[in-house]
Amino acid sequence: MVVIMKRAFTPEELQAAIQTMEEGGVQVMVSKGSETTILGAEGNAAGIDQEKLSLLPGVDRVMRVSEPYKKANRKYHPDNTAVDLGGGALVGDQRLAVIAGPCSVEGEDQIVGIAQAVQHSGAAALRGGAYKPRTSPYAFQGLAQEGIKLLQEAKAATGLPIVTEIMSTDNIEMFEMCVDVIQVGARNMQNFDLLKQLGKTSKPILLKRGLSSTIEEWLMSAEYIMAGGNTQVILCERGIRTFETFTRNTLDLSAVLAVKQLSHLPVVVDPSHACGKAWMVERMSLAAIAAGADGLIVEVHNDPKNALCDGAQSITPDDFDHLMRQLKVLAPCVGRSL
Ligand code: PEP
Ligand code: MN
Repeated sequence: MVVIMKRAFTPEELQAAIQTMEEGGVQVMVSKGSETTILGAEGNAAGIDQEKLSLLPGVDRVMRVSEPYKKANRKYHPDNTAVDLGGGALVGDQRLAVIAGPCSVEGEDQIVGIAQAVQHSGAAALRGGAYKPRTSPYAFQGLAQEGIKLLQEAKAATGLPIVTEIMSTDNIEMFEMCVDVIQVGARNMQNFDLLKQLGKTSKPILLKRGLSSTIEEWLMSAEYIMAGGNTQVILCERGIRTFETFTRNTLDLSAVLAVKQLSHLPVVVDPSHACGKAWMVERMSLAAIAAGADGLIVEVHNDPKNALCDGAQSITPDDFDHLMRQLKVLAPCVGRSL
């Protein structure tokens, strides 16, 4: 942190600024130029009350020079982190990890059938929502606990670890017992109470980027989870809101590169929610892997036209098989395998 003093300040005002910084736990370096006096913080500036400091009479500006996230920051953890999805399937190492399955669990035949199909094509984990964050309260809300039970049946039939979304802190204990990876949806990316509680769990967290969240806000949400002790966080770029309406969202592939540079955490891309159109999923998946994503999370449905949620963006098991074959061809070109 750097503090720039006003052109004219009293010795008392300088002392007040230094004291406020020192109280925040840093050492202060004072650099007096002919025009400007600058105070530099040495050490971790996280404890400094930036607002209080900037309101002091002698202070002109306060500038942050390092990122506010520490545990998620590559500076303090240069090596890539690989997260175990369950049963040894890693995301974040050389091998790509593809998570696939329907938007929502709808019934036993549906989820078990899709699980078998995506496993056959090489998926590393099964996704499926049991608690659905729907825009309309009248839309299908998910099968809730029954959906979790059906996911467990699909896991028993295939061995695939299960990834499913949590919406309420009330379900944390049950999720910790029953699922392999807990998904935090875009709408809950800044549900700080939920993030704090998930920080105390032992399960990996798939953290989706919020609908209109900046990269820094997204990494700060990861920091919330990690600050609680749970360092197994997988970031998921799922498209952001822009002025464009042709696609459901705008897939921000540059965010994949940004986050890989800023953080050591693994990053997956969700082309389904990003585009909202099944016919775009394969090409956007390939683009995501070319951009450096560690994997994908893709919606696959046996009967997209009659899906209870997100049918328009769901690809069929045959399409998924084709996508996986294409990925196998692409992977070695970017130093990965599948
Ligand atoms: C989902 O994965 O089905 C979902 C609701 O995604 P998002 O939170 O990215 O909208
Ligand atoms: Mn969905």
